[in-house]
Amino acid sequence: MPRRYVVHVDIDAFFAAVEVLLDPSLAGKPVIVGGLPHERGVASTCSYEAREFGVRSGMPLRECHRLCPRGVFVRGNYHVYEAFSERFFRVLRDATPDVEEASLDEAYLEFTRCGRIYPSFTEAARELKRRVEREIGVTVSVGAAPNKVLAKLATGRAKPAGFFEIREGEEAACLRDLGVEALPGVGPKAQAVLRLMNIHRIGQLWGLPRATLRALFGSGGDDIYLQSRGLDSRPLVSRTLPKSVSRETTFLEDLWDRRLLLAHLAYLCDRLTLALREDRLYAHVIEVKARYADFKTEIKRRLVLSPLQDMAGIYKVAEELFLDLVAGSRLALRLVGVKAADLVRVRPPALFEPYSERPERLGGAIDKVRDKYGFGAVLTARERMLDAVYAADPRRGYVLKTASLTK
Ligand SMILES: [Mg+2]
Repeated sequence: MPRRYVVHVDIDAFFAAVEVLLDPSLAGKPVIVGGLPHERGVASTCSYEAREFGVRSGMPLRECHRLCPRGVFVRGNYHVYEAFSERFFRVLRDATPDVEEASLDEAYLEFTRCGRIYPSFTEAARELKRRVEREIGVTVSVGAAPNKVLAKLATGRAKPAGFFEIREGEEAACLRDLGVEALPGVGPKAQAVLRLMNIHRIGQLWGLPRATLRALFGSGGDDIYLQSRGLDSRPLVSRTLPKSVSRETTFLEDLWDRRLLLAHLAYLCDRLTLALREDRLYAHVIEVKARYADFKTEIKRRLVLSPLQDMAGIYKVAEELFLDLVAGSRLALRLVGVKAADLVRVRPPALFEPYSERPERLGGAIDKVRDKYGFGAVLTARERMLDAVYAADPRRGYVLKTASLTK
């Protein structure tokens, strides 16, 4: 097997850097993107100048303002960031077909298969950095290493605007003194457990047997054991963003009962939000489709200013659209569907709330319960009704007849 060469690229202070490109008078100033100082919400990005005041992304805006009263606060425009992100990935895909989108401004690239075109991977990575900076106009930090974990850690060393490479044989020296939280396998909980054991740095993990880590953290213990030694066999995951996601149901018999129709709609919204969460997508457009007994199909859609991912938010819009749609008709329905379109990976910065208030945390918790106990373990009142109505029907498993994913 050829030795792997993985490159991690991360735009420095992305949103703030784009704001400076749009308004060069902001250059050199502490720029905080996410909202105005008096607004609710948190900073989504801050420039390196703002970081010198102790401002960090994720910090409430009021706190940012207290630390940096002369900071330039901007709400941000995610449509512009998206356009820059698209250009960024276009440049990356020119360098290699193996690209994983980690976020709007962060990617893993693998050069392993490109040996014929790049006599030196190191030089190719440096050239890529120069090219992104020239073509996009922002600075990037680039890390290179034999795998993803190390490449990302290398980027941490390269920040801001630098290049850092971890070669084979250098892993131990690079890892030893880093905090354990630098490993992706060590979340806040594992970190707390390790802290109790007086283990703070990665080098201290080397003394723990694999079995001990497994006993402490389950299968995650294996990840920690391997990652702490600089080992990581995860391949790159390249997937493109879908244009829209939809879920629809054709009924066994035409339905007229509005309450039952809404129950179906709730179930579809639930399935839809599950798909959105899996891809970390938010929808700007919610669309509802109804097909009547006479096969006539009608669609209503709404543009929502703050993009949605959560079940409650999407259902609320879908219900209004649906009731609006069927208000003028006395016909029974053959089909109902819901679609999320104009999808984005980030929510507009102005709408970021402190992490604990984000609805996706609830969604994540629901997913965990369902992974363990099945989809039916967590249902809304409307969905339970659907479940009850079809409980006695032998064709129950057939209720969600079609589910389509449009790319
Ligand atoms: Mg970044």
